[in-house]
Amino acid sequence: MIFGFHLYARDGLARAGRFCTAHGEVETPVFMPVGTAGTVKAMTADSVRATGARMILGNTYHLMLRPGAERVARLGGLHRMMDWPGPILSDSGGFQVMSLAALRALDADGVTFRSHIDGSTHRLTPERSVAIQHALDATVTMAFDECTPFPATEEQARDSMELSMRWAARCRSAFAPRDGYALFGINQGSVFPALRARSAEALARIGFEGYAIGGLAVGEGQAAMFAVLDFVVPLLPADRPRYLMGVGTPDDIIGAVMRGVDMFDCVIPTRAGRTARAYTRRGVFNLRNARFADDDRPLDPGCACPLCTRHARAYLHHLFRCEEMLGPMLLTWHNIQYYQDLMRGLREAIRAGRLAAHAAALRGAWAAGDAT
Ligand SMILES: [Zn+2]
Repeated sequence: MIFGFHLYARDGLARAGRFCTAHGEVETPVFMPVGTAGTVKAMTADSVRATGARMILGNTYHLMLRPGAERVARLGGLHRMMDWPGPILSDSGGFQVMSLAALRALDADGVTFRSHIDGSTHRLTPERSVAIQHALDATVTMAFDECTPFPATEEQARDSMELSMRWAARCRSAFAPRDGYALFGINQGSVFPALRARSAEALARIGFEGYAIGGLAVGEGQAAMFAVLDFVVPLLPADRPRYLMGVGTPDDIIGAVMRGVDMFDCVIPTRAGRTARAYTRRGVFNLRNARFADDDRPLDPGCACPLCTRHARAYLHHLFRCEEMLGPMLLTWHNIQYYQDLMRGLREAIRAGRLAAHAAALRGAWAAGDAT
């Protein structure tokens, strides 16, 4: 098999497995920290590895603008440039063109847009997106799609989904198969079950090494997102990894794992790390809050990261109040560590057949807070 995926445990709909790539193995369910512009912000590659993270995400849109995909290729590819020899998944650029670029013009063949950095004009088509991801040396290439805006009428969602399915077929043709590399298709259809079902059929007909669920976490709320997952996950091929793009909070991830999702990425742990928001076994704290000024306890006593083992909450509070760059560095490390520990715990619970009890215990500890 070009891109092996092996499931070795199930607990309800949840699955634990492993996929084998040209850049190493990855245990699932997996959370991929986001390395937007060739760096997981505020982290060295070694520190990302030290958290237990084995796969990261890179952004086509950012890297095609700066430093340029062909320049990344001349520098030996994204793995070498970043000193990240492990697997990298690249997004297709479609989502960020629609959310960041100026003067976008969508047509049947692709999208023309102006850079949000210098106003220069660029064009992305399914073929160009795949070529850029090849130049980056992405382990997993994502099909170029249109992320359907939310809310959308059923007619808008249908037109958008059908465009994405035509582009998905063009991406499949453009992608050069290589051992240990993968192309993932992306299910669209907004919150409309019939459209999601048609999208799932179209993708399975084309055939991909993995299947992503797109167009969620765009403002629809957790209940609507879970309702889409309840419907669409069983329609995706069971023997391939399933990837929920851009999700999410720890509670979102637990709910999605319990619905059969294997892969996640989100800016939450890194972005929160730069804004003094800490994700812990006792819930989410804002370290700027005055109550931490004299708090000499570790941030999260259950965490083995450098922040929790060497510093008190009061020190982190001080760093953020003084806007010292060590604050975001230490808290980003902690938040990524927390997410990796969360995923490891979920994998172990699935293997032991006790995921529901484990999830209830996690949620109970968040609700209890840190007063004790
Ligand atoms: Zn920590």
